[in-house]
Amino acid sequence: MKDLTELCLELDPDSWLRWHEALDEVASIGLLDARETAVMQRAREVVASDIAPRAAAHDRSHTFVHDSYQALVRAGLGALLVDPDLGGTGDTHVAYAAAMEEIAAGCGATSLVYMTQFHAMYPLLISGATELARTYVPQLASGAIYGSLGITEPAAGSDVAGLATRAESDGDGYCLTGSKTFITSGDRADLIIAFATVDRALGRRGITAFAIAGEPSGLSRGNPLEKMGMHGSSTVELFFDRVPVANDHVIGQPGGGWQIVMGSVMRTRIGAAAQGVGLARGAYVRTLFALNSIHGRSLPPEVETGLTQVRGRILQARLLLLATARALDLSDSVRTGEVAIMKQQCTDLGWWATVECMRLLGSVGDLTVLGVERCMRDVLVTRTYDGTNDIQALLTGRDTALQVAQAQGAPS
Ligand SMILES: Cc1cc2nc3c(=O)[nH]c(=O)nc-3n(C[C@H](O)[C@H](O)[C@H](O)COP(=O)(O)OP(=O)(O)OC[C@H]3O[C@@H](n4cnc5c(N)ncnc54)[C@H](O)[C@@H]3O)c2cc1C
Repeated sequence: MKDLTELCLELDPDSWLRWHEALDEVASIGLLDARETAVMQRAREVVASDIAPRAAAHDRSHTFVHDSYQALVRAGLGALLVDPDLGGTGDTHVAYAAAMEEIAAGCGATSLVYMTQFHAMYPLLISGATELARTYVPQLASGAIYGSLGITEPAAGSDVAGLATRAESDGDGYCLTGSKTFITSGDRADLIIAFATVDRALGRRGITAFAIAGEPSGLSRGNPLEKMGMHGSSTVELFFDRVPVANDHVIGQPGGGWQIVMGSVMRTRIGAAAQGVGLARGAYVRTLFALNSIHGRSLPPEVETGLTQVRGRILQARLLLLATARALDLSDSVRTGEVAIMKQQCTDLGWWATVECMRLLGSVGDLTVLGVERCMRDVLVTRTYDGTNDIQALLTGRDTALQVAQAQGAPS
């Protein structure tokens, strides 16, 4: 039996590639076309060389993953979902999901910053705000600026319709007053997509999306909050005290913000789901690598049984993720319930699989050098943001009721 300190529990870049390739499932990889496979491969390579090796240091030091994110941009992965006329590569949601999985497997925090860049782009891309999209999307996609999506408030998390940040019109534009909380990249964002209400009495119909650029008067940013996981990403509070926003920085129509949020989440939820699968896979590969270092090729039978369960459930979630992403690529009629099921199942799988890997490793799982405990800490929050998994269950329930009504012949 080797001394613990002699065990080589860290995957070097070559081993990272070899182990991930060997453990890939043909059934899931087979769902990608040649171009999507190339995107996944490119993501895997940059993760192996530039991202996974830095993940533990960012986790320990809580430093922002600027270097890791910029490596993704240099590898041409910053603009996957963006049309070529806006400087993007026009890749599919399947390619995005596959890349996101690879990034999350290497470093959860990098995947969160990467995802947030796209979350800041979606409202510009889907609202018909052509000029704003032309100005800001290429900058976000090239990593020249960071973006944030500001929806959550201290008293409005799941209940987005209850947000209280006020937008008062003065003819030339609006002044925003209120606060946002738990905003990813909010301490450094050069562009904040903020949602506020032009009239609380209107409920959802008052919600409006604004693009806040630079450092306007009245904007103050809190210090990064100390979190359980995702240490290399920053999460802050934002305070608005009559922050001026010009009329040409209203995204879409006044009162059109709710539609923008709802339209965005149908796609943004692929990101959280892919993080769930990616972090599960990251934990699984690291677990097999460590068990192999400890036991050699013949694993204890009870461990093998546990690994079979983890492998099977990761494969199921991966197939669900890629199939839903494909449906979103091909059709405008994907149901809210289908996206909610994907988000809930893939992120629940992430939590279950990382905890199970920790159990199978026994006390070795507690060693930070392995990175499995980091995957577990990082994955928990994927069940919370982008609509908690309770909210996904609620959405699925409502959608099922609609399906039943449709089956009964009610007009849709
Ligand atoms: C690391 C991190 C990064 C984040 N990044 C961003 C970001 O960039 N931008 C942003 O806008 N927000 C962000 N968020 C906020 C996140 O989206 C919210 O935390 C989330 O929407 C939940 O809101 P809440 O925390 O206020 O919980 P609450 O809504 O207060 O919910 C508390 C609990 O009650 C449950 N619950 C609430 N309502 C219902 C219901 N109707 N039925 C059943 N159960 C219910 C919830 O599921 C949860 O378990 C981030 C959060 C974290 C932790």
